Amino acid sequence: MKYQNGTVFEKSVNKAGGHDVFMATMATGGSNGAETVIIADAKIGFSGKSAGDGKVVAPLTHENALLLRKLFPWTAPSPVLRKERSFGLGDRLGIATAGHIKLFERYDAYPVFAQQSIRELTLTNRTYEDVLDAVTFAVFREGFKKSWGADGDHLKTVKDVEYALSLGFTMITLDCSEHIKSGVTVQNAPPLPSVYAQKYLGKTFDIGEGESVRFDERELRQTAAIYGEAVSFAVDMYNRFLKDGKYEADFEISIDETNEPTTPLQHYFVARELTDGGVKFATLAPRFCGEFQKGIDYAGDLAQFDKEIKVHAVIARHFGYKLSIHSGSDKFSVFPSIGRETRGVFHVKTAGTNWLEAMRAVAVADPALYRAVHRYALSVFKEATAYYHVTTNLANIPDVGQLKDSELPALFDNNDARQLIHITYGLILTKKKADGGFEFKDALYKLWRENEAAYNDALVRHIGKHLDLLGVQHD
Ligand SMILES: [Zn+2]
Repeated sequence: MKYQNGTVFEKSVNKAGGHDVFMATMATGGSNGAETVIIADAKIGFSGKSAGDGKVVAPLTHENALLLRKLFPWTAPSPVLRKERSFGLGDRLGIATAGHIKLFERYDAYPVFAQQSIRELTLTNRTYEDVLDAVTFAVFREGFKKSWGADGDHLKTVKDVEYALSLGFTMITLDCSEHIKSGVTVQNAPPLPSVYAQKYLGKTFDIGEGESVRFDERELRQTAAIYGEAVSFAVDMYNRFLKDGKYEADFEISIDETNEPTTPLQHYFVARELTDGGVKFATLAPRFCGEFQKGIDYAGDLAQFDKEIKVHAVIARHFGYKLSIHSGSDKFSVFPSIGRETRGVFHVKTAGTNWLEAMRAVAVADPALYRAVHRYALSVFKEATAYYHVTTNLANIPDVGQLKDSELPALFDNNDARQLIHITYGLILTKKKADGGFEFKDALYKLWRENEAAYNDALVRHIGKHLDLLGVQHD
């Protein structure tokens, strides 16, 4: 379908109060060639240029996104964490949602399309407005009518939580890591507050399914010392923002960003204290045993993981929330047990793997550009390790100068190369040339625009593999 010199996105054709609203790619004369715009009857109030026929050609601005969300509520996020299966899709580039939509139209799980941490925003020079607007436009363009969520991910401060909620984010992942004490052992833990002693000692707590929990004095003292302050922090934040219904958002408690795994006993303590403190939360993310490193499969003892996730899942069912699995990108070897032990009730977050698929597309489509980005990534790798915990061995990555063009995409099957590209995304995207322009960013976005179908297919395949192994059904 054509509109003037442009091509209409058929699934975007809608009416608001009897007036037309749709999206099209139009040649606007800019350096980018065709640009995606909103076309709407002028009466509706989008701001843009007159199209000469009573309609306006409206650019994809924040102001126009706000109006779109008002006119078409399905282009705004809603809380989805209480659904049985939800899946977080951090899209650092603002280009992946169309591909994700193709998947979540078919799979029995609810997507959280908008999901970024403050760290990701800082590293990519984006804002929560940008993140949400990119999703709104993609959802409208593709006519996706199912519910989807927006996650203010790993937020640690009053200011950041307020920022995300004020924009309409429907999920807050409260990162409690700065309030979790590290290095506390049964030997060095401070004395046990009497309130905990009375509540927990000498008792066995039946959590159902044949499982029970019982603390001895040493374990309880250690657990209270590690998590006591984190619990108070979560209670405070909940009371401040969510208790009185001022905002309607799902609350996730994140205690995963620590070095020491959360034992099932510690998980029980945190859940019990939060519940007794009146906190209503939809999900909790423990730090599981083994390593959940970015962009690669699980590393650790699978038998131990199976044993522990079983108890973590029973605890979550007992209190009535879902387990949340962070750094879920590419954890293929543990997905079957996560799906099984949670009985198909979970939240899983991915982020970096969407970026890696975008970079794989670059290796396929423009080998010279890929080599340049790869060499730059090597030069700044050390700097990037300040933000991400990885155990990458750069010596395991073949020299891109020696590889044939056709061999470059296989770098994305090499764990060390994956982590190299994974953690350097911010430096790659913000690298400037001497003249002030971007070294790589504009060329990369141009390539992704021109190869959108290939990127979407790659996402469907790759994220689809995650969902399949988790046991999510599809049409
Ligand atoms: Zn986390």
